[in-house]
Formats: sequence, structure tokens, C-alpha cells
Amino acid sequence: MQADAYPGGVIENIPPCPQCSSEYTYEMNNLVVCPECGHEWVPAAEGATDAAGTAAAGERVIKDAVGNVLNDGDTVTVVKALKVKGNPSGIKAGTKVRNIRLVDGVDGHDIDCRIDGFGAMQLKSSVVKKA
Ligand SMILES: [Zn+2]
Repeated sequence: MQADAYPGGVIENIPPCPQCSSEYTYEMNNLVVCPECGHEWVPAAEGATDAAGTAAAGERVIKDAVGNVLNDGDTVTVVKALKVKGNPSGIKAGTKVRNIRLVDGVDGHDIDCRIDGFGAMQLKSSVVKKA
């Protein structure tokens, strides 16, 4: 097979040359090179798309009740009374919560924190306001 003579033969799915339709194209320095007509071009890199997608996922923005962006370590205030299972008084509106941690929690509970008198809790970002 003639193609085996070209470098980059191990890389799959290299597109054929858009100019002369040669299938003997190979990848070099992030370009695809056609040995038949000498055409060089930047392929539609799937890797770039993946990187962008990953970045977007990493930038998941969690906002409080009024739209402030929350970050790990923030102090927030609970904006409404919350029922807590097994605790008759629940969490009162205005309770300060320090050092929150943003999580991908169950049922939309995206804040992990400790609340005095309650211990470890998970809250929804929609019930707190950045302090
Ligand atoms: Zn070509």
C-alpha cells in the first residue's frame, strides 16, 4: 500500500484533500498535508471541540436567589425558612452559612455546607443569597 510510506499513517480519519481528493493526506504540525498537490490546511479538529466542551462543563455557573454567581468558600445567607428532616424548628431565614462548597448534588441541591446546630447540609442555591 502506497499510503504506508507516508508519515502519520497511524492516525485515523484524516480527511481527503479538498483540492485534489487524494486520500494520501497526512497530519503534520497540526496541519493536514496533501503529498499529491502540496495543499496544507487545518483540519476541523475534533480535539478542539472536545476541549471547548470540557471547558464549558467545568464552568458550570451556580447562582444564588438573586443571580449572584456563587463560588466555593463563599458565605451565604438563607433567604427563606427551610424544613429540615428530623428537626422541628428547621433552618431560619437569615441563617448565615460559611464556607460553602459547590457540588453536583442530588435533586438540584448544589451547595454542600455545614450549618451551626444542624451539621452537614445540602442546600439549593435558589434558597441562599451571597452575604
Ligand atoms: Zn491534494
